[in-house]
Amino acid sequence: MPSNTADKHAAPPLPEPLRVPVADSHTHLDMQSGTVEEGLAKAASVGVTTVVQVGCDVRGSQWAAETAARYDAVHATVALHPNEAPRIVHGDPDGWSRQGAREPGGARALDEALAEIDRLAALPQVKGVGETGLDYFRTGPEGKEAQEASFRAHIEIAKRHGKALVIHDRDAHEDVLRVLKEEGAPERTVFHCYSGDAEMARVCARAGYHMSFAGNVTFKNAQNLRDAVAVAPLELLLVETDAPFLTPAPYRGRPNAPYLIPITVRAMAAVRGIDEDALATALAANTAHAFGY
Ligand SMILES: [Zn+2]
Ligand SMILES: [Zn+2]
Repeated sequence: MPSNTADKHAAPPLPEPLRVPVADSHTHLDMQSGTVEEGLAKAASVGVTTVVQVGCDVRGSQWAAETAARYDAVHATVALHPNEAPRIVHGDPDGWSRQGAREPGGARALDEALAEIDRLAALPQVKGVGETGLDYFRTGPEGKEAQEASFRAHIEIAKRHGKALVIHDRDAHEDVLRVLKEEGAPERTVFHCYSGDAEMARVCARAGYHMSFAGNVTFKNAQNLRDAVAVAPLELLLVETDAPFLTPAPYRGRPNAPYLIPITVRAMAAVRGIDEDALATALAANTAHAFGY
């Protein structure tokens, strides 16, 4: 194989370590290659000393809770992803879900899955409920009702257990903000992989919502995200990988992992025109505050 082809799929090199350690506020270790130990060690070697492991379905949420119980560097969140809830209700003949193809389970199956999320949310190593929210990109109109019902249920679970709420919002800004307002947002709410613009960042700031930026803030076509980074209050900013997705430039398309966080931190510091250490100090404190660890 020519070496340039191999490079395109290879793990990006280790970035220069951060001097001030931060957390990856949203990652999926269970979808990355290598062991958890390897991933954590590689991340720690560049100053990413903490990760928030995010559950997307029942099995993934159980795994997140087990992994957080095993490693001090890992905190868990648990949820049914906004694209997972409609699959539970309406079935998933294509097997898109990580739990494979399945028959329609109806509202009762969703209730049963939510009961397990509720049980997991009570565990001390589980610091948040999410990712939940709305995704109009992958879920069509037929899944909208189940998706919104699931979102509302997750908000209620987060509030009852006093945990952070982790929002997944894809092409659904207005409805996500509306549902949060109608239900009353939990005290600590995080927009993961923030995808709005500067105007929405002002709305989130007024509501006290945290905004977590992923590697796509480095993409050429993502000026809206850089504008949002520029106007968001420093104390509401978080950083994440959402790995294995959204690998920052110049490694777009190659596998992402928590050790690449320094690239995104530096891009955010450049946008704000502040020192990398000052931003890292704020990000570390903000993530600890948002997730209450
Ligand atoms: Zn997401
Ligand atoms: Zn995610």
